[in-house]
Amino acid sequence: MNSYTCTLCPRNCNAERYETEGRGFCGMGMLPKIARIAPHFWEEPCISGTMGSGTIFFSGCVLSCVFCQNYTISRQHHGRIMTEEELIEGVKSLEAQGVHNINLVSPTPYIETIIRCFTKYKPSIPVVYNTGGYEKAETIRRLEGIVDIYLPDMKYIRPDLSKKYSAAENYLEYALPAIKEMVRQTGKPVIDDEGIMQKGTVVRHLILPQNTKNSIAVLELLKEEFGDGILVSLMGQYIPMGRAEEHPEINRRITPREYSKVLDVYEGLGLDGFVQELSSAKKAYVPDFWDK
Ligand code: SF4
Repeated sequence: MNSYTCTLCPRNCNAERYETEGRGFCGMGMLPKIARIAPHFWEEPCISGTMGSGTIFFSGCVLSCVFCQNYTISRQHHGRIMTEEELIEGVKSLEAQGVHNINLVSPTPYIETIIRCFTKYKPSIPVVYNTGGYEKAETIRRLEGIVDIYLPDMKYIRPDLSKKYSAAENYLEYALPAIKEMVRQTGKPVIDDEGIMQKGTVVRHLILPQNTKNSIAVLELLKEEFGDGILVSLMGQYIPMGRAEEHPEINRRITPREYSKVLDVYEGLGLDGFVQELSSAKKAYVPDFWDK
């Protein structure tokens, strides 16, 4: 196949994608472009454990978040184009390093490749699908049997915010059904005796400055829709990066008051999961990506 017309994600670009280049919103070709393959220690404790999560950072993204920490790969497309065989070798090399899982970060544009690779080679450790949440439920359905753990964001409840900060006015319209499909596939979280997740869905939410109402509404929605069927990871480590300086209201870290306001609601709702401390807001946690 030399090209195909892509409608994999909610952008529904109907754009041609060739082997190494694409004309859709994500700008990516069919072959995976990868910016880092390495153990990663800064995910949730049940994902990173002691040996690390075997992360594969994909280049290109279907969202366009102005505050993206991984801007060089999400929008500037740093990374190396790899063949499917090279991707499989990368998975095997992570397994050989003793990591707890294979963590596919921002994989949406490459779902076709991922299905082919993981059908050819299924690792002996869980496969994690780590996404911004802007997904089509019907595309996620195709990953049943391949993915063991979903790690989606639920960023926004308000369309004006998702439009302004991520160029995706219909974010919630897609993210909620997609997460429902993820939870249908995984069932309730399963964590082994060593505290390592084997199956389930962890929904992340990053608190943005001056947007605590959005965060509270997201937490209430997650409780109402999923109850104890998911874990919720509340992230307080926002640092203004990418193009955040174009939006003065989010061009700062969150304050202790904003953080505790959202944390109070998290605890009051009895959500189960993980809470990131404010002190974890450090640029040092952004990994080094390959230039090419
Ligand atoms: S994966 Fe890329 S090309 Fe395909 S629909 Fe989404 S943004 Fe468009």
